[in-house]
Amino acid sequence: MISRMTLRGALHMHTTLSHDGSMSLDELVGFLKSKSYDYIAITEHSYDVDDGSMQDLVERSQRMSTADFLIIPGLEFRCHGWLDIIGYGVTQLCDSDEPAAVIDHIHSHDGVAVLAHPNIRDYPIDNQWVSMLDGCEIWNVSNEGKYLPQSGGIKKYQQLVADSPGLLAFTGLDLHRPESYCNLSTMTYVHDKTGDGIIGALKEGAFRSESPLFSVGSDGDISAAGRFRVGALGTLLNGARSARDLIRR
Ligand SMILES: [Zn+2]
Repeated sequence: MISRMTLRGALHMHTTLSHDGSMSLDELVGFLKSKSYDYIAITEHSYDVDDGSMQDLVERSQRMSTADFLIIPGLEFRCHGWLDIIGYGVTQLCDSDEPAAVIDHIHSHDGVAVLAHPNIRDYPIDNQWVSMLDGCEIWNVSNEGKYLPQSGGIKKYQQLVADSPGLLAFTGLDLHRPESYCNLSTMTYVHDKTGDGIIGALKEGAFRSESPLFSVGSDGDISAAGRFRVGALGTLLNGARSARDLIRR
């Protein structure tokens, strides 16, 4: 058996190419290098970019990638109904906003199709195209919080995977600004330390998400400690957050 290398990745990143991103590519790369990641996967909003700006991102990502730090440019495709589908490794825009067509587009460019934060909006979910996806976010840090996923997000993933066996459990920082960073990594088990090697490993589920309080395999298997914490500590942390919001108001 060929041995694999473990790379520490940060998934679901936005730069200033996205209207709500606060860090330029240089700033984002500098920031995540300082956090000791081996690679980052960028996912700009499809509606904020055009062919020219994506081509520019591809070229700058290639130029700035080194043997120790890889930058994988990609897109987060907005479909109708405000549905967001991430195309890891895909930099070509799609002319359709139909989920099935977008997923086909992602696959035709050898990318990984992942449903973003399904529990924060009431997405019109259809098993027909959900079964075409490679994965779904079980925790989206920017929308759900830095410490733990919300039980609603986990439940949503579990509902979807019941009808679409093999749907991989992804986590995403959905990082737009440094303040919302948390120590979440996608430990990725690759044959080659290349962009293709990483995309291939993500596609086949050779990864595991890890943070100080929570970890989950690509098969959606949550560690026992993580399960306990989502229940008990999650309520506490969410309570603390609403108390803080109340004070700020
Ligand atoms: Zn995003």
